[in-house]
Amino acid sequence: MENHYDVAVIGAGVVGNAIARELSKYAVSVAVLEKELDVAMGTSSRNSGVIHSGIHYKPGTLRARLNVEGNALMAGLCQDLKVKIDYIGKLTVAQDEEEVKSLYALKDQGEANGVPGLEILDPGAMEKIQPNVGGIRALHSPSTGIICPYSLTIALAENARANGCRFYLGHEVTSIQKTGDRFDIRAGNKSFSARVLINSTGLYSDHVARMLGIGDYRIYPCRGEYLILDKRLKGILNVLVYPAPHHGKAGLGIHLTNTVSGNILIGPSNEYREDPEDYACTADIMAQLRREGHVLLPELKTTDFIRSFSGLRAKQTPPEIGGFKDFVIESREDVKGLINLIGIESPGLTSSPAIALMVRDMVERLLPLVPKKEFNGTRPGMTGHFYELSDEEKADLVAKDPDYGEVVCRCEQITKKRSWTPSRTPWAQGPSTASNTGPGP
Ligand SMILES: Cc1cc2nc3c(=O)[nH]c(=O)nc-3n(C[C@H](O)[C@H](O)[C@H](O)COP(=O)(O)OP(=O)(O)OC[C@H]3O[C@@H](n4cnc5c(N)ncnc54)[C@H](O)[C@@H]3O)c2cc1C
Repeated sequence: MENHYDVAVIGAGVVGNAIARELSKYAVSVAVLEKELDVAMGTSSRNSGVIHSGIHYKPGTLRARLNVEGNALMAGLCQDLKVKIDYIGKLTVAQDEEEVKSLYALKDQGEANGVPGLEILDPGAMEKIQPNVGGIRALHSPSTGIICPYSLTIALAENARANGCRFYLGHEVTSIQKTGDRFDIRAGNKSFSARVLINSTGLYSDHVARMLGIGDYRIYPCRGEYLILDKRLKGILNVLVYPAPHHGKAGLGIHLTNTVSGNILIGPSNEYREDPEDYACTADIMAQLRREGHVLLPELKTTDFIRSFSGLRAKQTPPEIGGFKDFVIESREDVKGLINLIGIESPGLTSSPAIALMVRDMVERLLPLVPKKEFNGTRPGMTGHFYELSDEEKADLVAKDPDYGEVVCRCEQITKKRSWTPSRTPWAQGPSTASNTGPGP
């Protein structure tokens, strides 16, 4: 056996990386096994990037609790990791009296979950927050935020790696066996063994669970397509704008979402697919998104739509049922040492730091977790983009290193050196290079 670890985390999405970083605070060896050649290649880079407040989920569910806890933890985490986050707030907008009733229900639910600052606004108050928003009433949730989901995922991975976790990119887990008190894992062309196995494989979590004979779960991929609006519209939207909820829908409805880089997203749609990697964007949905975007923001022009993308929700509910099922985060009694994360759809991004704490507690019941004195939870560098700096700040950075000033993407004004993603290149080289696995435990 080549590689012995205390813990193996399968899946380098935001959840797997948040768990790996949390465990890197302790004196345990951790391997992260990822089938793709980089981190953040699955759902964690294909979503709305919203740090939800916690109004949408039933009190008492894991989704509600972990959403609210994750929202609160995210600010400090982003500060440590130099990831840009903006708590810009959200308006959930009602178009008729029936929808107004659902806003009051949403407010009650949010308050029961502990969401701060919720208010129902009349058109005058809505107009002050977001001119031309349309609708007759809105629920304002000021603790809703936005983040770049892949920047967070990458930052978590980098910090986990800097604290000793080993990343095996391009290593798809194809078989797992329990032998005594260890798991024998085949991934890529290597064999691994681990005392604790964490299945955080998103859309494939049912498949990975089946490798250990657990047939309790089935994931139904549900695609959400988006349109991206030109940065010309930057500043047009002060807050996020969502429609009032409708019972039985698989998502939260088509919404307008600011991104931290200044574009606006319209989406996502809802469409169940067989293939967990069917990331197509379709003409019908694009037309639907344009129509619904106009209802929420009447001044939109067709020429404002510049690009499209899609992501797939790891739903536990089949199309004929729709709606949401609670997250499954379980330490299995029948397969001791296995921690399964199943159906981590929205708000999985928001919840990721709270999920990591919950999983840490589960690991602690399986292994002694002794805190490491040398853990450093901060990342060097700055938060944000070069183009956002003042002329003096830009000149200072370029004087330190000319790569800070070399523009490699003219549309987005991305420079060669971005101090908030410093050590990306060695990771992206795939499984055949020695450098992709990082420092050992
Ligand atoms: C359209 C859409 C919008 C969303 N919007 C929001 C939002 O605004 N806010 C929010 O909080 N949440 C949102 N979410 C949910 C959020 O994106 C997910 O909950 C979160 O990204 C899940 O992260 P993950 O790490 O579990 O999964 P993933 O990011 O999918 O990571 C799983 C990883 O496992 C790897 N893997 C799979 N099988 C194997 C294997 N056999 N061996 C090795 N590796 C494997 C995959 O390659 C992948 O990298 C949205 C989701 C979608 C689809």
